[in-house]
Amino acid sequence: MQSLWNDTEAATFGTDLLGQRVYTSRLLGRNPALVLHGGGNTSVKVTEKDFFGDEVELCYVKGSGWDLGTIEREGFSPVRQEALIKMSKLATMSDADMVLQQRAAMTNPNAPAASIEAILHAILPFRFVDHSHANAISALTCHADGEARVKEVFGSRVIIVPYVMPGFILAKTVADLIAGRDLRAEGIQGMVLLKHGLFTFDDDARKSYELHIEMVTQAEEFLAKKSGAPLATGEAATDLKALAKLRQVVSLKRGVPQIARLNASAEAVGYANLPAVADFGTRGPLTPDHSIRTKRAPAFIGEDIEASVQKFADDYKAYFDRNASGHTMLDAAPRFAIWPNQGVVSFGDTVKDAKIVADISESTLATVQLGEAVGGWEPLPEKDIFDIEYWELEQAKLRKGPARKVHQGKVALVTGCAAGIGFAIAESLAEQGAQVVGLDIDKDIPEIMQKIGGIGIVVNLTEDQPVQDAIEFVVREFGGIDIVVSNAGIFPKNEHLDVMAQNDWDRTISINLTSHQKLMNKVIPYVKLGLDASIIFVGSRNFKAPGPGASAYSCSKAALTQLCRVASLELAPYRIRVNIVHPDAVFDTKLWTPEALQRSAERYGMTVDEYKTKNLMKVEIKSKDIGNMVSAMASPLFSKVTGAQIPVDGGNDRVI
Ligand SMILES: [Zn+2]
Repeated sequence: MQSLWNDTEAATFGTDLLGQRVYTSRLLGRNPALVLHGGGNTSVKVTEKDFFGDEVELCYVKGSGWDLGTIEREGFSPVRQEALIKMSKLATMSDADMVLQQRAAMTNPNAPAASIEAILHAILPFRFVDHSHANAISALTCHADGEARVKEVFGSRVIIVPYVMPGFILAKTVADLIAGRDLRAEGIQGMVLLKHGLFTFDDDARKSYELHIEMVTQAEEFLAKKSGAPLATGEAATDLKALAKLRQVVSLKRGVPQIARLNASAEAVGYANLPAVADFGTRGPLTPDHSIRTKRAPAFIGEDIEASVQKFADDYKAYFDRNASGHTMLDAAPRFAIWPNQGVVSFGDTVKDAKIVADISESTLATVQLGEAVGGWEPLPEKDIFDIEYWELEQAKLRKGPARKVHQGKVALVTGCAAGIGFAIAESLAEQGAQVVGLDIDKDIPEIMQKIGGIGIVVNLTEDQPVQDAIEFVVREFGGIDIVVSNAGIFPKNEHLDVMAQNDWDRTISINLTSHQKLMNKVIPYVKLGLDASIIFVGSRNFKAPGPGASAYSCSKAALTQLCRVASLELAPYRIRVNIVHPDAVFDTKLWTPEALQRSAERYGMTVDEYKTKNLMKVEIKSKDIGNMVSAMASPLFSKVTGAQIPVDGGNDRVI
């Protein structure tokens, strides 16, 4: 492992102690083999003047909710060193008291809550303290002879700390281990926490960080010498329908839709195909705090997907029963799964959550494989993992997120969404938590969808293979498709039948009707494996209230309505609802320049305002009205509605 220290870059963080602390914390956070997503913590001890001008000794310790890789100065909580030392001398302290007293001891009450390891940081008599959950330390110490190995690798440079619960108990344990000792005189540079992680410390920021890199490198070299074998590799035989099925089964077990991310890399497939992986791959995590993201162990998926997920749930229940005392059981759905021939699948409420799990699982499979190869992977006993998984302080971290949105965990495919109604629909679905993928012929669709956190794919919807590829991309990326909004359409120029160019008719029917039929043909197999699945077509007021010169458009929308009705009949047995929305024209799109509006209004002998509100209720219909309606139609509000035609037109006497 290489030190990432760079003098020029370091200078940009400031030469003061906190600036250096921010910089080397980020260096630790930059390496996924050291810390992942909020893991690890760091601190620096400084003397500062408080508000009243009195000198005060502070321990700036990483604040809860911050990630080392992106931490800023504000991410460190300034806690009075004296108070932390006092706490370390108490015989016992409840978690609630510890959290409260740490906050009470901060010179800035608006700073984030200090890490649960703040007391431990304070009692270590060095200015800079760095703590990680390095993979190599896990592989080294998750072993029957972990302690002997640490002695062999590090000699007397480190203090060896047997596993105890993090927080106050760990701080007390270390306080006892270092009591009455002069760590500097002894040449102590760090601590190895068996089956947990590594601490290094020094009065110099760079030195403390580079000690970390040096020790992890020593562990890596020791392991490499013992193992020699490279990680297993294999070739994926990806089955996307099976992936959608797995996502569906896991989501139902969890009670809410999940995003599923398939890692089909050669390493993931190689790992999943190892003969004994169902055994050693499910023994436990690299470090206890991974368990709040991944649970104690992944699921192992065999031939029967449903039975495999059920087995995981049964095992989880048994684990809970063996270890719980007065706890309420969390859901019994796996957070990741080892799947022979497919790879490793990670699940989450959002794409971000699923990616976090994917990162942890990627580290896990490499480290567990190494640990097993160098003498047997032996992670923490399940009771210790249970204590962390069900620890109030850890669960509180997960609950900090925002309230659940109506489409959270769902995947929505929207066609024709570069502008106008289509864009408004994509935006409304994304606002309500859906992961949106937009298909459009507009070459700017990737950037347009990026604005709403979605993915845009340039596709000509009248072509078969590109549409098939786009659908498969969505499933590969997110695990399935739950909401389909079939919106793409054109409004051709006004032409009476006797002078209409044949090509204009054909093109309109091809885009406004046949492309929708083709999309259904390809997407329905996946929608059948969706969650609370819903298909929505975008029709037009024109279907019931056609106008002269719009035969192709009116016929295409009438036929689209019939397509929707037939689809609703065909898909009702699968509990998939299929509905159509009939909007009136909207004028808040770039198509309608002020001049174009003026011309159209004049044609009707109206003012622009009259023209924009020419409906019974005299209201203007906006793109967002349609977007919000479609989002509602995709929500549980419409869970028992299928085959419906919903006008959003302000009332029209030809429609009513
Ligand atoms: Zn830790």
